[in-house]
Amino acid sequence: MNIFSYHQASDAASAIAFKKTGPAAKYLGGGTNLVDLMRETVEQPETLVDVSHLAGDIERRSDGSLLIGAAAKNTALAAHPAVRADYPLLSRSILAGASAQIRNVATVGGNILQRTRCRYFYDNAARCNKRQPQAGCDALEGFNRYHAILGASDACVATHPSDMCVALVALDAVVHLQGTVGTRSMPLRDLHRLPADRPELETELQPDELITAIEIPALPFARRSTYRKVRDRASYAFALISVAAALDLDQTGKVRDVRLALGGVAQKPWRALKAEAALKGQDAGTDAFRAAAEAELADAVGLRDNAFKIELAKRTIVAVLDELKGENA
Ligand SMILES: Cc1cc2nc3c(=O)[nH]c(=O)nc-3n(C[C@H](O)[C@H](O)[C@H](O)COP(=O)(O)OP(=O)(O)OC[C@H]3O[C@@H](n4cnc5c(N)ncnc54)[C@H](O)[C@@H]3O)c2cc1C
Repeated sequence: MNIFSYHQASDAASAIAFKKTGPAAKYLGGGTNLVDLMRETVEQPETLVDVSHLAGDIERRSDGSLLIGAAAKNTALAAHPAVRADYPLLSRSILAGASAQIRNVATVGGNILQRTRCRYFYDNAARCNKRQPQAGCDALEGFNRYHAILGASDACVATHPSDMCVALVALDAVVHLQGTVGTRSMPLRDLHRLPADRPELETELQPDELITAIEIPALPFARRSTYRKVRDRASYAFALISVAAALDLDQTGKVRDVRLALGGVAQKPWRALKAEAALKGQDAGTDAFRAAAEAELADAVGLRDNAFKIELAKRTIVAVLDELKGENA
């Protein structure tokens, strides 16, 4: 590991000021991803600005929305009574990730900005356009079981590994940012980028921007929601495919509203807007669920080891919607 300096920020403004003055500085949340990357010399910041002591409150607001400080621990968010009752998909997505010990340390901001788990990104001996632009991509012809089936490019087929983010994009979460030029907000759905020919650019953040909070709008029908993660081991494994969903049926059994997002499929948490559009107004049932899944995966492209994920994604969508339909009955 290289030598670096460490600053503990007392508020957002001082964190941003530290990051701006420090050469090659990075914000540090719980460090569960960044410190691993530093140990592997994949990332070599010269300055760490510790933001894990900044605001981490979880506040239920009068309009029913939830405001979550970016330093909130993953465990605290998953266990919060309002999250468990009103957004079970979010609680379940967090609990499906990592281990209890890691979730106790990891922050919400760090979870959103964790880097891909592509093994070629972590291996300095391998070619990786994300780690070293224009170097090439060894995942394309290598072991690519966990890689992207949607929105990938010839330059990069990595996936975003977060479970929590999949639930958050399904819930239309908004990210609050602060930087040297001021504050702004954007839908989480727009924060992460697809790789195209610049896979090293993973988000729309400016270099000094800090995630200060995440806001989740009220969504009463999310009380009937869930998160299902399909993986090679029952714990301590990243998603091959995951589905976050909430389903609202009317008295006649038609889909009044639905939220659907996929994990393990792309370099960003994937909101399944085509499937949602295909479902609205339809009789809730396996035929409509399958047609919606087909619509969402129509442009999916498989690689040597991961083509099975296309059918797996469709079947997982159908299974999750069938489960939620049962809860609506
Ligand atoms: C063994 C293992 C298994 C795991 N399994 C899973 C899994 O199954 N599912 C899953 O979703 N995750 C999994 N994880 C990943 C884990 O969820 C992340 O490591 C964790 O959420 C990152 O949070 P952190 O606070 O430790 O981030 P850090 O490691 O501190 O930071 C991560 C990145 O975010 C940036 N950052 C941190 N806070 C901010 C902020 N407020 N504003 C701007 N930038 C910020 C940092 O600069 C860094 O680039 C696993 C991790 C490990 C080690």
